[in-house]
Amino acid sequence: MSNITATAVSGLPRVYELSRAELGRWCEEHGIPGYRADQIRRWIFGKRSNSFPEMHDLPAALRGLLAESFSLFPGKLVDHRVASDRTEKLLLELTDGELVECVLMREPERRTVCISTQVGCGMGCVFCASGLQGLKRNLTTGEILEQVLRLDRLLPREEAITNVVVMGIGEPLANLKALLPALESLNDKGGLGLGARRITISTVGLPEKIRELARLGKAYNLAVSLHAPNNTLRTQLVPVNDKIGVDAVLQAADDFFEVTGRRVTYEYVLLSGVNDGPQQARELAKLLQSRIAHVNLIPMNAVTELSYVEPTAPRTQEFVRVLEQFGIPATVRKRKGADIDAACGQLRLHQLQTAAVTSPELVVLTPP
Ligand code: SAH
Repeated sequence: MSNITATAVSGLPRVYELSRAELGRWCEEHGIPGYRADQIRRWIFGKRSNSFPEMHDLPAALRGLLAESFSLFPGKLVDHRVASDRTEKLLLELTDGELVECVLMREPERRTVCISTQVGCGMGCVFCASGLQGLKRNLTTGEILEQVLRLDRLLPREEAITNVVVMGIGEPLANLKALLPALESLNDKGGLGLGARRITISTVGLPEKIRELARLGKAYNLAVSLHAPNNTLRTQLVPVNDKIGVDAVLQAADDFFEVTGRRVTYEYVLLSGVNDGPQQARELAKLLQSRIAHVNLIPMNAVTELSYVEPTAPRTQEFVRVLEQFGIPATVRKRKGADIDAACGQLRLHQLQTAAVTSPELVVLTPP
């Protein structure tokens, strides 16, 4: 994995790549009082500043030094789409030319952002657009935060981000090293000040990484992408399951619950005729019956390149009914931004495909 991170980025580092403590040290090394770090971070996280010169309560020399040493938003906005439900999606080009997606979703009382943690994904889930071209590299802490900060700047002054879901492109637990400091800055009072309970990390289910997350003592929410109630079906849909197995995933999730006291959500994508039958609902219910769990059913979000489709509404309702019969709370995820390719990885994929027509050096998509 280290060679993946090593290829990362070019140009000046984003100033928020540094934690509060690191920025404080940087200040001190340059003969600047440490409290200036708080001021700088307030401009970025609180006052939505877009440039160093406008940070007018900092001495001019410091503003100059910051501009020489750091960048703020070096990503290039390649596409910005607004859906009819006001979901907004950004496609950002990173300094090495890689593409990354992030989404802002609005509900009456919530503004949730969905962020990516990797360029592409190595997990290979057969229904997901993000992994169709494999994993390119991990994102850095700054690249993860740039997504949140840019989406935050789309909101009017009186509104703030209320929730963050790490459910964009990539497997977050395969990049904990960069993700955790980013979440720390979101959680930090001098950062975005977002409660840990408002941050959800979705994982394919990497047992040791789930335990590592639990040991942090943070109240982050964990969502585990189960998608099937037995190994045969899960391995077919989520190939990494072959090396892990449903039992090991559930045991790690149990440990997470035991250590953190946080109820685990199990995500289950509903694929018509594949994993959406009442028999599978019963099998899933039996698996989760003894656990404090919640099931989030995600009707398949159509991906042009893939043949999986969502089940009919009555079949979905039947699945929910069976789970509820067994006392398992279940919800069906509402679709957001359906008219703007908002399912994770789709916009990037389509951009790559368009680019492939004109730039032969880019990988041309070969659907499985
Ligand atoms: N790697 C993480 C994050 C993936 S995205 C994980 O595996 O959890 C968040 C959720 O969306 C996952 O449950 C993922 O399996 C699901 N998903 C991916 N593609 C989808 C699609 N086309 N339709 C519905 N859900 C999808």
